[in-house]
Formats: sequence, C-alpha cells, structure tokens
Amino acid sequence: MTRTSLTQLEARDAFIARHIGPDAAEQQEMLSLLGYATRAALIDALVPANIRNKNPLPLGAYAQPLPEQDALAKLKATASKNQVLKSLIGQGYYNTHTPGVILRNIFENPAWYTAYTPYQPEISQGRLEAILNFQQTITDLTGMGIANASMLDEGTAAAEAMTLIQRVGKSKSTTFYVANDVLPQTLEVVQTRAKPLGITVKTFDAAELAGVTDAFGVLLQYPGVNGVVRDYKDAVTTVKATGAMVIVAADLLALTMLTPPGEWGADVVVGNSQRFGVPLGFGGPHAGYLATRDEFKRSMSGRLVGVTIDAQGNKAYRLALQTREQHIRREKATSNICTAQVLLAVMASMYAVYHGPKGLQQIAQRVHRYTGVLAANLKAQGYSIVNASFFDTLTVAVKDAAAVHAAALANGVNLRQIDATHVGVSLDETTTRDDIALLWTVFAQAAGSSTVCPDLDAVEATVAPAYAAELARTSAYLSHPVFNRYHSETEMLRYLRSLADKDLALDRTMIPLGSCTMKLNATSEMIPVTWPEFSNIHPFAPQAQTVGYREMIAQLEEMLCAVTGYAAISLQPNAGSQGEYAGLLVIQAYHQSRGEGHRNICLIPSSAHGTNPASANMVGMQVVVTACDANGNVDLADLKAKAELHSKNLACVMVTYPSTHGVFEEGIQELCEIIHSHGGQVYIDGANMNALVGVAAPGAFGGDVSHLNLHKTFCIPHGGGGPGVGPIGVGAHLAKFLPNQRSNGYVRSEDGISSVSAAPFGSASILPISWMYIAMMGAEGLTAATETAILNANYIARRLSPHYPVLYSGHDGLVAHECIIDLRPLQDATGISNEDVAKRLMDFGFHAPTMSFPVPGTLMIEPTESESKAEMDRFIDAMITIRGEIAKVESGEFDKLDNPLKFAPHTAEVLTADKWERKYSREVAAYPVPSLRKQKYWPPVGRADNVYGDRNLFCGCAPMSDYE
Ligand SMILES: *Cc1c(COP(=O)(O)O)cnc(C)c1O
Repeated sequence: MTRTSLTQLEARDAFIARHIGPDAAEQQEMLSLLGYATRAALIDALVPANIRNKNPLPLGAYAQPLPEQDALAKLKATASKNQVLKSLIGQGYYNTHTPGVILRNIFENPAWYTAYTPYQPEISQGRLEAILNFQQTITDLTGMGIANASMLDEGTAAAEAMTLIQRVGKSKSTTFYVANDVLPQTLEVVQTRAKPLGITVKTFDAAELAGVTDAFGVLLQYPGVNGVVRDYKDAVTTVKATGAMVIVAADLLALTMLTPPGEWGADVVVGNSQRFGVPLGFGGPHAGYLATRDEFKRSMSGRLVGVTIDAQGNKAYRLALQTREQHIRREKATSNICTAQVLLAVMASMYAVYHGPKGLQQIAQRVHRYTGVLAANLKAQGYSIVNASFFDTLTVAVKDAAAVHAAALANGVNLRQIDATHVGVSLDETTTRDDIALLWTVFAQAAGSSTVCPDLDAVEATVAPAYAAELARTSAYLSHPVFNRYHSETEMLRYLRSLADKDLALDRTMIPLGSCTMKLNATSEMIPVTWPEFSNIHPFAPQAQTVGYREMIAQLEEMLCAVTGYAAISLQPNAGSQGEYAGLLVIQAYHQSRGEGHRNICLIPSSAHGTNPASANMVGMQVVVTACDANGNVDLADLKAKAELHSKNLACVMVTYPSTHGVFEEGIQELCEIIHSHGGQVYIDGANMNALVGVAAPGAFGGDVSHLNLHKTFCIPHGGGGPGVGPIGVGAHLAKFLPNQRSNGYVRSEDGISSVSAAPFGSASILPISWMYIAMMGAEGLTAATETAILNANYIARRLSPHYPVLYSGHDGLVAHECIIDLRPLQDATGISNEDVAKRLMDFGFHAPTMSFPVPGTLMIEPTESESKAEMDRFIDAMITIRGEIAKVESGEFDKLDNPLKFAPHTAEVLTADKWERKYSREVAAYPVPSLRKQKYWPPVGRADNVYGDRNLFCGCAPMSDYE
C-alpha cells in the first residue's frame, strides 16, 4: 500500500469537517461540560455494549472518504455509462422542459429544497401558497371539487383512491375493476395494495365499461395507455347506477384540451404531474395527485393546504384537517402517507403559474398537432394506427416490432415496446419538427424503404383534432390571478423570491426537529441530481441504456447493507411510510412461504410513530399496542406477555431504535429474542439511524427488516415535505421477498412481492445524494457524524436542563441524538404551552422543535451533527430567554394572557401599527436578544387559527375579488 500524503489526507478529511458543525476544540469544550474526555467515552457510556459494532463500517471501496471533487468525478464517470436517448415511450412519463427560472430558483435553491413540512404555518407561508397553487391546478384541470397536496406517484394515488371509494361508497362488493388500458405499473401497485385487504382486482376491456355490474369501483385511464381517448360519459352513468364509484387516472396536459373527468361523473381523479416541468429522473421523484368530490374531503388521504385567518384576522395558509392523518388516527388510519412529494408539486404548480392557461393550452395543442402529423406520415408510409382517437400517443401496427425498435435505436430513439407486432409512440412538449422527420426515417428504415419525409407544413395543414368533438374541453381553468400575472421571467423570478423570503428553511436557521433529522444537504451532494445523465432517463428505457444508474444503485445498496448490517436492500419505496408498508408485506410473504400465513398480529409500543400502526393496518395486520414504562422504554414484561398471548398468530413487532423518546434501550436484544422465540419477525423503524450509523447495526442486533429515511439520515433534503426515499434492509432469509416490478420486466427474485411504487427504483434520481454523502464521509466520517450528533444533543440537553425538565435521559443523565423537554409542568403553573414556546421561537428566527411527539405537551430537539456550536448556543440562548419570559408570567410581571408568548409570533405590521395596547413593549416583542437587531426574520402572518380553518374549510386560491 502506498502511503497517503499529507495534502491528500487534508483533502480527504475536508468534507467531513464541512459536514460536521463543531470543530475539535468546540467538541472538547462540549465534552468537558458533559464530563467525558472523548467522544468515544461518551458513546461507551451511552450505547449498550452488547449491540455495539465491533469493527469499522465494512464499506469496502468506499471506506476511505473521497474529497468532494473526486466523488463528483467518480459519480460522473458512472453516470456517463447511462445513454441519454430520446425516449418516446410514454406510459405515464414524458420529456419536459423545466423552465430555467424554476430549475434554478426552486429545484436548485436551498430556500425551497431544505425546508421542512409546513407543520408550523407561520414560517411556511411561501411553500403553503405554492402547494395551494398545486391543489388549484389539479382541481381546475380535473374538474373536481378538491385536490390534496401531492401523492407519492400515480400508482400509489390510484391505490389510495381505491381504498377511499371503498370507505365512502355504499357498495357491498369487494371487487375492483381496472380497465385493460390502465398503465401496467398502476395496475400492479393497485394489486399489491388490494391483496392483503381482501379486495379482488379484475381487469376488463375499457370499451365494455357499461357491462361492469358487480364492482365497488372501477379505474379508467384517460387517455388510455395505448393512446385511445374514449368518451366514457354514458358508460360511467350506467356503471354508477350499479352502485360502483369511478376513478379516472388522467393526463394533466391532455386535460387542457379534453373534457375533464369531473364533468363526466368521476368520483376520484388521480395521476402524475411529472410532465409539468419535472425531469424524468428514471422514474422519480414526481408529484402524484388525487382529486375528489367535495363531499369526500374528510376521507381523502394525504395532506391538504387550506386557508384560514391569523390572530389579526388576516388571511393565512395552513395544513388543514390534520385529524384525518395517521399521526392522530394511528391504527384506525386509512393511509400511512407522511413524507410526500412537496418540492415536485411546487415545481409542477409553478410550471402552471409560469405558462398560465394559454401557455399550457398552446403546449398541448402543439403536442396534439404533431401527433396528428406523425399519424398522417405513418399512414402515408403504409402503417396502420390502431387507435383512431388520440391525444399524444399512437399505437402502430407493424410487421416486426423488433426491426422498428432496432431502427429507432439506431436513430437515438426509444419507442414503447408493446408486443411483436405493435409499437407505441408518445410525443411531448420537447418534440420538434426534426423529431417528426426523424421518426419518418425510423419507420422507413424499419420497412426497408428510403422514402423522404414530406413537407411537414403541408401535412400539418391537413390534420384535425383526433378525438370526438363532444370531448373538446369547453370549461375554463386556471383563471385565478396567480396563473395569469407571472408570465414574464422578471415577474416569475420575483414571485418565487417573495415566496421563499416568507419561509424559514435550513439556509437561514437550524431546524431542530426531533425524529426528522434536518442535517446538512451539501451542495456537492445535490449537483448530480440535475445532470442530464441522471435526470433525462425514462424509467422504462432499455436496460442497456441505464448501466450507470444500475451501477450507482447497486453501490448504494452495498453501502446501506454495510451500514445497517442487513443482507439486501430495496430502494423502491418512496418514503419511510412506504418502506414500512413494503417491509410488512415482505414479512407477510415470509410467513406465507412457511405455511404460516395466518400470523397477523403486529405488536407496536405505544410510543411508536403514527405511520407504524397505520402501515400495519394497510396490510391487514391487527395491531396490539404494548406499554412503555416511566423511563420511556418498551415495557418488556408487557411485550413478553402479549407475545405469549398471541404466540401462534404473532407476525411481528415494530420498534424504533433508539426509541422515539431518544433512549438507547438496554433491552433491545432481549426484545428481539422474545419475538423470535414466538416465531415473529422484528421490524426496526430506522428513522433514528442518525444515532446508530457506524455505532450499531439493526441487522446485526436482531432486526429482520428496517426502513431507512434517506431524507433524514442520508442527506436527501426534505423539500418542504418531500421527496423522500424509504429503502428497506432485510436479513438474508427475507431477501428473496423484496419487491419486483414484473409489469415492466423488473424481476429481482422469483419470490419477490409485487411492486409498491410506480417505478422499479422509486425516486431513483435523488439516490446520488446519499451516494455522494457516504462516499465523501467514508467509514470514519459516518461514525464521527453519529457521535457528534449524539454529542450535540447532549450538549443542548445539558445546557437546557437547569431551565427545563429533560425527559427520559438514561444512564448518567444522557440522551441519544435528540432530547425531549417537558413543558407540561410550566403549562400547569403558567398556562404557557409548548405551542406558545414554538411560536415565540419564530420571533427569534428559529423553526420550532418537534411538538407533542412522542409525548404530548413537549418539544423534541434534534440538532444533528451539522449544527455548529455557535448556532446551538444561539438556540440555547433563545430557549433560556424564553424561560425567563415564562418566569415573568409565573411571577406576575407578565400578564397571563397579554404577554409576548401568547401573542407570538409578532409580525412587522403589528409592531409598527400606530396603536400598541399590549402590556409588554414592542422592543421586548421584536428584539428579545440583541443579536436580532442585526439579523431579524419577520414572520409574514400572526398565529394561524386552526379551528377557524377547519370549520371554514377552503382549499383553493383566493378569488379574483381578493386582488381588487
Ligand atoms: C419520519 C418517520 C417515519 C415516516 O417516514 P416518512 O419518510 O415521513 O414517511 C416513520 N417513523 C419515524 C420514527 C419517523 O420519524
């Protein structure tokens, strides 16, 4: 081995020092406060010895950290093995032009991509407005009453719609009919979801809808995957008369020209907004959508932005109807969706804002006209087009499909592979006249002819709309001012900036959210995402063109196996919740394979995250809640008793480690042994992996399955509520059950479960972020990150403990990577709640910690390793100052109701009004600590009124009159 030179060493460790906030001296200072000589000693004191990793992370070729430039170069070399061809495959995914102003100012802008889910509405008004625009875009284009704030993809949106109509419908049937021209990946995801719920899925000929009589619901595709645009109006009326409800998967661009399903009787409309400016990215991430009739809004899954008023009666946005969500409903939840696709929904909505109704229609008309020209050309060449009606997709009958694909490939084009005698062509926004001419050549070559493409202007003059006149859209859409005033780039740029300025994201402040791990999303990690080699690849492109992707994915799988101690990883799930769902399906498949399919009991400690019981419910398992003791640990005696009671039917346990209380429970190995002794499997929720990486591995200490949240531990930014990636790691005995996607030829194992996402590798285009992180940190860097995350949390806990009770500290008063401070005693004494503290932190320019999870009335603080000591001190000072304010309420110096906590956050408008009648000064309100005079964040609205918003539910853009 050659010796590493000093300069190489410096370069090598440089990124680690960029990623980890506190330097060596600061770490030493924090360690002394805690009474430990080294980080290692702190970890020794905290993490049970029996679960500790004995060896450095076995990262193989990636054990040594790569300098930023080297990691980028290495990944670029891998990316270059992908071939970027012109993919006209369609099947739900299309090329699109991401407007530069959106690419640079949203997709590549940390003000948008590092934001958290807008649970704190006052510091999230910008992204809430953007998501509301998305909801309005979807509502208008589909012709429905209400739309949610994005779904994980089209397939899961259809599956959610199926369960929605089963809940709200009156039919007793358990059969769900899917038209035979629905996207194959959608059908597969629906089948996956239906099976454990006892729903029978049948397919039928889309032309025979009126003949369906025994369904609780049907799913249609509009236009169909083969291009047909059907007039479903009469058949929908007929089928609805049988008691069935109708779901339509619809293409948003087509809806600018076609009568929307909402006008012909659809109950739910779902789809994907990818072609509104979001790159293909080998399948994701993209924002799916779900729209329904107004009367079902309280049963709809997913998040919903609504309008309310703030404390001054001004308009404010917030997440509405949160009582529907899994956090609250737990095992009664109807969906487990948590992280969704907010950043992509924001991009799609801004595409609609930028183009406006006229611009969108122009794009759609051009696509449709070009498709007409292509159809005429193909007919002139002697080909027959199978679908007489179309919007952008043609199914062409050919003698030898292989010859056509070969000719296409030779000309740099991918067509859709249908069968031996049919090929599919889908045009899109990026299609040019040259492309039409190129397709002439492709089809001519395939036929062994050398005819030349005719004059396209002449052909164009002959084409007419290729769908029934009754299907031409007559209703207006996107008439709100927001879709009609930002069409110049200057206006658009300023609109985006004005929204971003309203929000607090990681580019302004630490976001100390327990359980959510808001760490650095380094620029070098983000850069590869927009490389064309990654972003312009169709998910169903031929394998030979995706060699680079597959290599990167395989490497990331290996890296994550090394980190977790599991034998295999699936990157298919699009969020942690989907990982839970996939993992439980894998456990079910395992039991079934052993003839023990009856095992359906899932033990879940009461402290679990809401997605755990919700996921168990989704796979038809019965949740049995087990107790926690006063120290926040799983009550092992209770768990043991319940495992014994349900021994014969025990499927699994779901536990989070370290616990959601931030405790390294000593009994975790024993817990795993108890479950295994009863034939159950152990699901370890890996959301807290930031306390484990390099220190302990769930696959080694007893877990059979875990999901990771790559958007927490592995640096994918939160995007204001998504995208995420929720891969699952499994033990060797479960590896063969990991998800396939047979409908598109992805078979990883014969025994694999059917797919849980619309794309075989889920949100593939953001995987480079986690790859870069691991490559740049190496084994030592990753372990140092974990240790520093724990050190940082303990520093905050120790500094705050004289002022607030810290819950659930374990040995030597230590916490894991997060700490819970208890506001309940103070609330009892003063009436000041955790919410008041959260809102008051906004006046200090901070995002609140996690509120009321896992313990009501508390705040859970997780600084992560990325926060510097200076930033943590700024936070601690704010918290101590706030404690002083609470003391003044206690002592009577501040009024119980008229005080800066109860009225927080304070807007500039309130503070600069001529009238000020509060019992505390403006100065106290605005500048409680001197540093705020130099840098001050002004919340754009006062405290949002939750009750008003839910009572007067309104989930669309402001009407015209608001602008007058
Ligand atoms: C975040 C989280 C989840 C859910 O993950 P998503 O990616 O938001 O779906 C599950 N469990 C715990 C403990 C979490 O913190």
